[in-house]
Amino acid sequence: MRFTESDERLALREAVRSFASSYGGDYYRAKAREGAYLTELWAEAGKLGYLGANLPEEFGGGGGGIGDLAAVLEEFSAAGCPTLMMVVSPAICGTVLARFGTPEQRRRWLPGIASGESVLAFAITEPDAGSNAHNITTTARPDGDGWVLSGRKTFISGVDVADAVFVVGRMEDTATGRLAPALFMVPTDAPGFEARRIEMDLVSPDHQFALFMDGVRLPADALVGDPGSGLMQLFAGLNPERIMAASLATGSALHALERAVGYASQREVWGRPIGAHQGLSHPLAQVKVEVELARLMTQKAAALYDAGDDAGAGEAANMAKYAAGEASARAVDQAVQTLGGNGLATEYGLGAAVTASRLGRIAPVSREMVLNYVAQHSLGLPKSY
Ligand SMILES: Cc1cc2nc3c(=O)[nH]c(=O)nc-3n(C[C@H](O)[C@H](O)[C@H](O)COP(=O)(O)OP(=O)(O)OC[C@H]3O[C@@H](n4cnc5c(N)ncnc54)[C@H](O)[C@@H]3O)c2cc1C
Repeated sequence: MRFTESDERLALREAVRSFASSYGGDYYRAKAREGAYLTELWAEAGKLGYLGANLPEEFGGGGGGIGDLAAVLEEFSAAGCPTLMMVVSPAICGTVLARFGTPEQRRRWLPGIASGESVLAFAITEPDAGSNAHNITTTARPDGDGWVLSGRKTFISGVDVADAVFVVGRMEDTATGRLAPALFMVPTDAPGFEARRIEMDLVSPDHQFALFMDGVRLPADALVGDPGSGLMQLFAGLNPERIMAASLATGSALHALERAVGYASQREVWGRPIGAHQGLSHPLAQVKVEVELARLMTQKAAALYDAGDDAGAGEAANMAKYAAGEASARAVDQAVQTLGGNGLATEYGLGAAVTASRLGRIAPVSREMVLNYVAQHSLGLPKSY
């Protein structure tokens, strides 16, 4: 059993760290405040092969696993560039397409996802279903040799930079009238598809949208993969999503911790660095312990997933997401405290991180829903809802 990453993974991390640091948190926040996207970072990262680290080599990817892509995102986040679209485009959509897409869908989408030239958004959340994904009502009914899709989605990230949205819906069986889970690829310029920006109190270049799909006509091949396996295909994307969300959170926590430690080592108000006071050094040390534990569980989840153990990865990915969300919120909170007034000054970038750090407790699955999962599946307690 190894508790360190492979030499290749460590080399990948080092290269990504140096690349992402050349952009850094100032670049990220400036783009967010202009309302612009991280276009330069995304394009360069795509050319360098970082965005497709997990995708098959025959489609332009790096041939690695989700652990490699998660390492890339953790390093981006640790450098101050926590891009949500890496969770969505290569990790969820790329994984599902690579594992279950038809040969034509793989050829059409995977090379662009790997190079960053194509971006896919992912839409499961609905206003009236929320955490209860069993209640989603977006439905496609067969029409000629294609489909007509109608429904609503909310909080969908990155629709403004996406070519298409990977929509989780239901497919109507004309013979029986029954509805089965299914995934559809919906171009963002399709007639009947409308995306309205949701104003958020997040300083982020990734914007969120409410989607309105009113009789959107789709060709037959908009249905992703095999019509009989929609649920299994969806689940294949959710573990990578949690592993990536955990990595974004641990990377963001490391970024905040580094800033706090740097400041605490320099700032003097009683003739010695404030980091000498245990009132500051102990909470920072606690954060370090919590972040490293969360990173370990995230790497375990990725290793299980990449070894083909979907069930084992499910439990570990949920636990990793929980631990990382908590560690990130506490890291940013303690970093702000360490900087005193400067913790909220725009120049230091930590005030903006406060709202962002709450995201790890809410999305893609909330802290409470992870605890429900652990109570029920890991502890065998009765389902509470
Ligand atoms: C910045 C951002 C980006 C996002 N990007 C995407 C995206 O790209 N695609 C996408 O599909 N979605 C996206 N989401 C949506 C996100 O996944 C949801 O917000 C999240 O799953 C929670 O759903 P909800 O907001 O409807 O909350 P609700 O389900 O309404 O929950 C509200 C509160 O009730 C608690 N709760 C609900 N049910 C239970 C229960 N049974 N037991 C205990 N507590 C419970 C929840 O934990 C939460 O605290 C994004 C959200 C944000 C904020």
